[in-house]
Amino acid sequence: MEFKGKVLFTSQDEPATKKELTKGTLSYVKGALLIDGNGGKPIENPVIVLENNRIKQVGTATMIKIPAGAEVVDCSKYTLMPGLMDCHIHTMMFNCLTFHNYRVAQWEVAPSLQQMYSLFHAQMCFDMGFTTLRDLGLNSNRGLLTTELCSVRDSINAGLFGGPRMLIGGWTSITGSHLDLVMPRSMVRDGFQTADGPWELRKLARDNLRIGCDVIKTCASGGGGTDKEEPDVRNMTQEEIDAIVDEAHAFKKAAAVHCFTPDAHKMAVKARADTIEHMVFHSNESVDMVKKAGIFVTPTLSHRTDHAIYMRKQQGTPKFILDKMKSLQPFCYETFQKMYKAGINIAMGTDMGYDPEMGEGAKELQLYVDLGMSSMHAIQTATKNAAIAIKMGAELGTIEKGKIADMIAVEGNPLKDITVLQDKKKIKMVMKESKIFVDRRAGKHKSAVGVEHQSWKIIDNL
Ligand SMILES: [Zn+2]
Repeated sequence: MEFKGKVLFTSQDEPATKKELTKGTLSYVKGALLIDGNGGKPIENPVIVLENNRIKQVGTATMIKIPAGAEVVDCSKYTLMPGLMDCHIHTMMFNCLTFHNYRVAQWEVAPSLQQMYSLFHAQMCFDMGFTTLRDLGLNSNRGLLTTELCSVRDSINAGLFGGPRMLIGGWTSITGSHLDLVMPRSMVRDGFQTADGPWELRKLARDNLRIGCDVIKTCASGGGGTDKEEPDVRNMTQEEIDAIVDEAHAFKKAAAVHCFTPDAHKMAVKARADTIEHMVFHSNESVDMVKKAGIFVTPTLSHRTDHAIYMRKQQGTPKFILDKMKSLQPFCYETFQKMYKAGINIAMGTDMGYDPEMGEGAKELQLYVDLGMSSMHAIQTATKNAAIAIKMGAELGTIEKGKIADMIAVEGNPLKDITVLQDKKKIKMVMKESKIFVDRRAGKHKSAVGVEHQSWKIIDNL
């Protein structure tokens, strides 16, 4: 049938679009101080020149003259730094804000509602300066949520919603693993949940990869927050983990391995995994191996604090799990100190999920500083290191010529007081790809979240 309507797009439109892109409108960001993410001395009175979605030049007010009439983002009272990155988060966790009891919610919530929570949680993080999140996936009463998570990522990438850049993890683990036991033991599993043996696991990894996940998430040992499960239970054989990591690499994707024990560290190193998740137990030998391999480790200490345990208690977690979490705490802190001292690559990750403080991921950095890390190194774990850990070091993580312009402006100096990064009032501006999504500078009221903080309601009245 002949099309009689108006032709909206013709091939003639293309050159105009290209011209606009290459022409490049310059804009200028002025700050009081610049922490560029490289670890050197902060730069006073910085001026950052942006072209399209990238950084064209970084200098000072004396070096770079801003032409009259140019677009200026005036943050001259604030510290500029790269957008923060959380390398281990679970935005799909459904109960964080509107459910009393996660164990009830596991049965009450449909994946489609969880997907909406994911976008909401991602925006809450974005609103607090997190421009990149690596969401390490989830499963549900209807199977793995890889599709739903990838769709959240894609809807943000398509520009339908303002939100952080997201990398998505697809769970690939064995029957009865820690990742399996996140769901109730008696729940009937569908086909897209777990697998066993190298070939079945390769198939599960391929299913996740076909959906479009960015990283395969697996677990080599038990964990802390699930029922009747001990952290030192081996969660797969070497042959199985080798197959999973190999499959991720074959598709040019990364593999993230949950490890609570030195044996799990060894398995992950041998399999050539890309990141190790959590810091719980260690041995001198495992620290040596991880150090030599240069693998990045995400500490996820926010998940281990007394406050985290208290929040879990509020959400109906049984006492024996709370006791287990408490008993792990000193080991986690000790392992962090040991790994930091040994010079192991650390990338910030919170494991935020059940905890109801989505967006407050920067509390993790305070824990690092409290445990002896310098505030500069702590900032680097959430910027430069995080970008390298997720293989985006060439594009993100520092304020440097040629990189994507993800940047935040903060009131105060996080090198002197790391807690300013936790204070919403002090996160004055959040920019992703040169575009301002959050603006709390004088006279500006732009937020990444559509509702007033804590205006949400509890929907399980049990
Ligand atoms: Zn996790």
